[in-house]
Amino acid sequence: MKPVAKTAQPAAIALLRQATALWPKREKASDGLLPSRAHLAQSPNSDHNTGFAVDLTHDPFGGPDCAKIFKELRKDKRVKYLIFRGMIWSPEKGARAYTGKNAHMKHLHVSIKDGYGKDTSDWFPWVGQNKRWLHLKSKFVRVKRRKSEPSSPKED
Ligand SMILES: [Zn+2]
Repeated sequence: MKPVAKTAQPAAIALLRQATALWPKREKASDGLLPSRAHLAQSPNSDHNTGFAVDLTHDPFGGPDCAKIFKELRKDKRVKYLIFRGMIWSPEKGARAYTGKNAHMKHLHVSIKDGYGKDTSDWFPWVGQNKRWLHLKSKFVRVKRRKSEPSSPKED
């Protein structure tokens, strides 16, 4: 069994915090950092033991869509491997079927490479860009609308 750390790595904690900042009302039921007893029994050599892994709850309606994140995070240099919905991806071997006991239907598992535990840079850069664009767009629309607004009705 891999020894269990006292705290998760900052990079793992940052992933959950950044997700909550982007989707404040997201589901968290399947979030995880350090292993539970049940998890330890099932996966004694998990990266959760060392604090180099994080589970993000799949919430495609009000929160993060882990199907999309499973693809986007392949560009992130910190990722050792990803598991979601019966698939595993690693930089060395690409995507393939995951045959472990837990198929990971409700959460995305992210294992972080040694050496990147303290890297808390943006885990969701594509979401940030999209939100910035929407913000700009809403400003533009607001200005346009103001111009075409009818003048206030006269009081009799
Ligand atoms: Zn996990």
